Amino acid sequence: MPKNKKNKEKKRKEESHGLQTPKGMHDVLPADYLWWEKISKAAKDLAEFYCFNRLDTPVMEFLKLYEKGTGADTDIVQKEMYILKTKSGDTLALRPEFTPGIMRAYVQHSLSRLGQPQKLYSIGPVFRHDNPQAGRLRQFTQINMEVIGGQNDPIYDAQVIIYFNRLIDELKIKNVVLRMNSIGCKVCRPLYKRQLQNYYKNFEKKLCSDCVRRLKTNPLRLLDCKKEECQEFKAKAPSILDKLCASCTSHLKGVLEYLDEMGIAYQLDNLLVRGLDYYSRTVFEFFTEGNGSEAGAIAGGGRYDYLMESLGGRVTPATGGACSIERLMYVMKSQEVKPPQKLPKKVFFIHVGEMAKKKSLRIIETLRSAGISVAESLGRDSLKAQLKTADKEGIDLALILGQRELFEESIIVRDLRNSLQETVTLSKLVEEIRKRLRAQ
Ligand SMILES: [Zn+2]
Ligand SMILES: [Zn+2]
Repeated sequence: MPKNKKNKEKKRKEESHGLQTPKGMHDVLPADYLWWEKISKAAKDLAEFYCFNRLDTPVMEFLKLYEKGTGADTDIVQKEMYILKTKSGDTLALRPEFTPGIMRAYVQHSLSRLGQPQKLYSIGPVFRHDNPQAGRLRQFTQINMEVIGGQNDPIYDAQVIIYFNRLIDELKIKNVVLRMNSIGCKVCRPLYKRQLQNYYKNFEKKLCSDCVRRLKTNPLRLLDCKKEECQEFKAKAPSILDKLCASCTSHLKGVLEYLDEMGIAYQLDNLLVRGLDYYSRTVFEFFTEGNGSEAGAIAGGGRYDYLMESLGGRVTPATGGACSIERLMYVMKSQEVKPPQKLPKKVFFIHVGEMAKKKSLRIIETLRSAGISVAESLGRDSLKAQLKTADKEGIDLALILGQRELFEESIIVRDLRNSLQETVTLSKLVEEIRKRLRAQ
């Protein structure tokens, strides 16, 4: 059998035995978890600091929620959903994004009765059956920000953008450009859509198959096509910025003025439309400029004043944005941002002899109860092997419990940097270690 075929055969077998993650799903191994944790902690701390409150929704919702919310004509709903039927006959979907679920929660729990707007954030997995690419997976973790209710004031759009701008800054991601656009409202957008359809109709035969479909169902998305054959038509397409009504123009102007005030640079990009139906007015994306897969959007969002209505709720202005931890991690690694380091443990416990081993867990637990983190390698019995592990983990302070110490209810405290040691009675151990850790 040729090698290639053999490998494929092997992979298929492994998959059928369940020994491989499904395509686009991945494990977060301990080394990557340091990155993951750094990003998620930065996002969470910043959200709390900016006075957003956390709201998490279930990973599964009724499929209808996304058909009505995300939009039945979007690529996400048409091609990328994980849909399942439950034993009781419900049709559920794994969430492909947070926003419709958050809006549902806002209605279901009457959050409109609380102070408006509600500033909410969520962090959790979302699922899209898309083609996996660098830093883009079928299961990924989204950091999601929403400002729901109150007025449709441009200052809220600016606040969401400021949050992502600062997060990207804190993560030390470089070469980032903020692109801004407005996609209008119920008054001006239909006129623009018609103009765009009329323009594109002239080239219908030359468009890619996706664009032929978009021309009928979702013309704004024509501007989003990445296919080579559609680029020349995109470049000459009429601009929505020329078609905005007076109130959309002044809303966009408002957002941009707040960004100017904050000294946040941006580029106006009339081709920016985002992949979702529900946006109105503001849309934004943070892009990294770079080579190949390093380039691309790392965060994005916009305003969606009509979403609540399309879900069957009352008119409720809202704006928000999202980014993916995995994508940020990918960009940080490719920009060679310094990898996060795990702080070494400070204390290592070593036992010598059966009797000492028996007592080891209890002594370690006493220290842990006092808030002292203790590393060990209790499964090894040789003193040398245990010292070696302590050295490998870069720990300076060893506690050595032998037969004699056990008998005297004491323990040896050894500084591994200079091998100086002293015997300390067990009843004074916590105090002694605290003193030494303070001195370090
Ligand atoms: Zn308008
Ligand atoms: Zn196309």
